[in-house]
This record gives sequence, C-alpha cells and structure tokens, in this order.
Amino acid sequence: IALYRAKERGKGRTVLFDASLREAILIRSRLQRDLPRSLAGGDVFLLYQPIVALPAGEVVGFEALVRWRHPELGIVSPARFIPIAEETGQILPLGRHVLEQAVAQLARWRRMTPGRGLTVNVNLSARQMWDEGYVDELLGFIARSGVEGLKIEVTESMTVTDQDQAGTILQRFRALGVPLCMDDFGTGYSSLSHLGDLPFDVLKIDKSFVSAAGTDPRRESLLRGIVDLAHRLDLSVVAEGIETETERAIVSRAGCDYGQGYLFARPLPAAEAEALLLAPAASS
Ligand code: C2E
Ligand code: MG
Ligand code: MG
Ligand code: MG
Repeated sequence: IALYRAKERGKGRTVLFDASLREAILIRSRLQRDLPRSLAGGDVFLLYQPIVALPAGEVVGFEALVRWRHPELGIVSPARFIPIAEETGQILPLGRHVLEQAVAQLARWRRMTPGRGLTVNVNLSARQMWDEGYVDELLGFIARSGVEGLKIEVTESMTVTDQDQAGTILQRFRALGVPLCMDDFGTGYSSLSHLGDLPFDVLKIDKSFVSAAGTDPRRESLLRGIVDLAHRLDLSVVAEGIETETERAIVSRAGCDYGQGYLFARPLPAAEAEALLLAPAASS
C-alpha cells in the first residue's frame, strides 16, 4: 500500500519508503529466490542458547535458534525471515532442515554426556503444525532417529484457531515422548485456559514479562502467581530473556525452574555451545 501511495505522489517520493518496508520487500524476494540454495549450501544454520537450572545456573539444555547467512544481506534474523517463510510456504523445507540439524546435534551431545539428560528445544511455527502430512513426516523422522531429549516449542498463536485440532496435533508429539513448551507466554493471545486444556509440559515466560517483574512489584506478584499455577498443572517453568542479576534473583524467587538469557549466554555456534557443555563447571 505504501508503495502505491508513494508512486501516486510522483517521482522522488519513493525514497521516503520506510526502510523496514523496503527491507521486507527485499528479503521476501531474496528469500523466495535464494532459500533453496542457502538450505543446500549450509547457509541456514542453528545457534544454541543454553537453558540453565535456577538458581545455580548449570546448563540443562539448549534452544536451537535458526540463522540465515545471506551472501549479500549478511546474517538475517529469524524475526525477519520466519514470518515471510510462513507466508510463502518455505517454512516447510526450512523447518525440516532445522529439525534434522537439531536432532543430529542433540544425538551427538547425548553421546558425549551420558546420564545427564541433556535436551534441545526446536521451535515450530503454526504453519508447520497445521499441515497434517508434514507433521506425519516430522514425527516419522523423530521416531526413526531414536533420539531422546528433543522438545518442541510452539507459541499460543497456534492454539487460538482451533483448540481441539491443536490439542490432537500436540498430543501426537507427546505420544512420541516429545514434550511441548508453550513459548512466549505473557504476550499476544496469552490465555490461562490454554494451559489447562492443552497438553503442555513446559511454560516459557516471555522476556517482556520477566523485565516487567523486575521493575514493578505488582508484576512480580503476577509472575509468582503464574508460576504457582503452572506448577499445580505439572508444568515446569522457564523464564526467558534474563539479562540482569536482579531479574535472575526475581525469577528464582518467583519459583521459575529454569532460565535463559544473555546473562547466562547468547545463542552460540554449536562448537561454543559444546565447549560450555563440556566445561568442568557445567558438569560438576
Ligand atoms: P523465541 O523462540 O522466543 O526465542 C527467543 C529469542 O529471544 C531468540 O531470538 C533469542 O536470541 C532471544 N533472546 C534470548 N535471550 C535474550 C536476552 O537476554 N535478551 C534479548 N533481548 N533477547 C534474548 P532469535 O534467535 O532472534 O529468534 C526470534 C524468534 O524467531 C524466536 O523467538 C522464534 O519464535 C523464531 N525462531 C527462531 N528459530 C526458529 C526456527 O527454527 N523455527 C521457527 N519456526 N521459528 C524460529
Ligand atoms: Mg522459542
Ligand atoms: Mg520465546
Ligand atoms: Mg520470543
């Protein structure tokens, strides 16, 4: 719309485009054109951000977070390209690639750390969950891999369209022994009823909620209440986006079981994640 309006106003106005809109258009066309090659060439890769036990901070697992190294655009953030990949349908091959990479990495790390129960979380978007044939394919891949310790993260947006259907799909993962995390809780459509009605095992509390608890005592009480509720429902709780010692203290005090955030570590290349995993302090 902005594009047309700018053209209507005549020459010269096109330079006034919103930079992010231009970027979005550029990424969209590049994504459509270049993604297949990037997937094949190893330019779509994963970083691994540690998830630590609170309050001590030992590494119990990682969240796999995708990155795209574009030959001209440089590293493109998933916040930019995942929504576009969902629209174009390219999320399907991309998501398959992500799962394969993450499962291979997890299998390797499990062999290196016997008995530690290491986990790796993989994000799935709604578009992936709603394609039944695709879900069959993912489940088949997971089953054949025989890997243990895989978890799936989905946001609540997946569960708002059709709750029964969402429940059925989620249950299929769980039946395979793959626990489910409700991601980004406290943003968007957050609904407490979903926690009771859908088969989630882990609640991930969004960064915005964690930051708010750090500055506002009422929000801290709210956090505490939600953690209690989750525990009563047999969910474990991960606090996301912990950046300060104050936030770490608050989420620990509120009863969060696990934490994730820049305070502990940024998303890391596999080799660095592995070094952290094998460091003496991490395994003691
Ligand atoms: P998410 O699943 O909620 O992942 C957490 C995001 O928070 C990551 O951003 C992570 O780098 C960032 N983060 C972690 N700790 C901190 C912190 O202390 N401070 C701040 N400011 N940020 C922190 P990232 O990697 O850019 O990913 C953004 C979103 O893209 C993810 O949010 C997820 O929804 C989506 N995404 C990432 N990888 C995949 C994937 O493989 N498949 C799908 N479908 N979505 C993905
Ligand atoms: Mg996530
Ligand atoms: Mg999240
Ligand atoms: Mg998020």
